[in-house]
Amino acid sequence: MDNLPVLVAGGGIGGLSVALTLHQIGVPCIVLESVANLRPLGVGINLQPNAVRELEELGIGPAVLDTIGVQAREWALVGLNGNDVYSEPRGLLAGYRWPQYAVHRGALQMLLYEAAVERLGAGAIRTGHQVTGYRRHGDEGVTALIATHDGRYLEMRGSLLIGVDGLHSAVRAQMHPHQPPIHWGGAIMWRGTTLGRPIRTGASFVGLGTHRQRVVFYPISSADPATGLATINWIAEITVDSAGGWRGGDWNRKVDVESIIPHFRAWTYDWLDVPAMLRGADEVFEYPMIDRDPIPTWVDGPVALLGDAAHVMYPTGSNGATQAVIDARVLGAAMIEHGVTACALHAYDAQLREDVGGVVLRNRGAGPFGLLNLLDERCGGVFDDIDAVIPPGEREAFMSRYKVAAGFAMEKLNAATPIIASGARVGGEAPACCSTMSS
Ligand SMILES: Cc1cc2nc3c(=O)[nH]c(=O)nc-3n(C[C@H](O)[C@H](O)[C@H](O)COP(=O)(O)OP(=O)(O)OC[C@H]3O[C@@H](n4cnc5c(N)ncnc54)[C@H](O)[C@@H]3O)c2cc1C
Repeated sequence: MDNLPVLVAGGGIGGLSVALTLHQIGVPCIVLESVANLRPLGVGINLQPNAVRELEELGIGPAVLDTIGVQAREWALVGLNGNDVYSEPRGLLAGYRWPQYAVHRGALQMLLYEAAVERLGAGAIRTGHQVTGYRRHGDEGVTALIATHDGRYLEMRGSLLIGVDGLHSAVRAQMHPHQPPIHWGGAIMWRGTTLGRPIRTGASFVGLGTHRQRVVFYPISSADPATGLATINWIAEITVDSAGGWRGGDWNRKVDVESIIPHFRAWTYDWLDVPAMLRGADEVFEYPMIDRDPIPTWVDGPVALLGDAAHVMYPTGSNGATQAVIDARVLGAAMIEHGVTACALHAYDAQLREDVGGVVLRNRGAGPFGLLNLLDERCGGVFDDIDAVIPPGEREAFMSRYKVAAGFAMEKLNAATPIIASGARVGGEAPACCSTMSS
């Protein structure tokens, strides 16, 4: 058992964060990634200060992140009439000790991949290896069942298996065979990136519209000094009748931009032309706003779920990737305390599952965009003076409740010790509680 690696199913942001964390604390691991050749897929994502702190602990600090994104300065909600509903500074400007980043998801994944190959060796990251299931062996670890890209079937033995295999997780499907189907509340998102001039602070996240129809946009690159143009990530979203159910889809379903323009044709302001921004994208992807119901456990003996496989959530709170990084660090800390054991997996589950399940449900209620719901209830979204509709104290209280729930409340984060103490490594005898591998 001692010589067996930890197996990590999935080489996304979560899986690679696990690999880098395990390497840092001296635990051998092998990443099994289904895609044969990783490519920088996706569009923009946010890394909240708590995740940036953890990446810095992994040696991927601001100097590196500055090469793939921009430090966010503001988060703002704007009503359909163009009036501000709420705005607050973000990252360093807000007083966090670590910045918040807006980055290209694919660029971040490739950065983590290259760091993992460099540190763990290319043999530790096996692409073209799809995990289809697992077999438990009591106290003797676990076997991952693998289908390779070139049509072979393999079995690989490990001490533990961490299922970080995303929305359609095969590990989760085996662990929870009767889980409800993917949940869809009726919102459809179209996503793309367009070269444009950044507005407001130059690094502002702006949500414009109503809770049923909005456009969210933010730069994910610095402005080119010669042209003043940056890569602007945008998400255009509408809510439709979900009675017909979710018709399937993944992150890579392309659509013709002209099919979405009619929803936003009238959205032109002297500071933004929404149809022009949408039309400026080379590619537009459709993605339904989907998640999964929280589950009663993320652990089955020597097997645990992590990242989207454990808790895929609506992206309304911009914390899917952030939570995957935090999960990886909490898992590493649990191994330092409990050894490379099922007991560590239980400690990880006990520390995170309930709270993160709460964030999943909170994001269903629109997450921080819930302020727009409130605005709609009180004035149908039509207002001149926002203070008369939702007083400033109420707006701030709403936002701080969300940040506490999502784990990036500023005072708490700034005062907290690192999740993994500098130089800590796994070693010594596993505590007695770890002798059973039962779930
Ligand atoms: C192609 C793609 C594009 C995305 N684009 C965006 C985006 O634009 N904006 C956004 O907010 N979020 C996006 N996401 C989701 C976002 O990356 C995650 O919410 C977040 O980073 C948590 O990461 P994760 O590692 O848990 O899951 P994911 O990022 O989904 O990574 C899961 C990884 O596991 C691999 N995998 C899947 N099944 C298996 C299996 N059976 N065996 C082995 N490996 C497997 C996948 O190929 C993937 O590399 C995207 C995800 C993917 C996969």
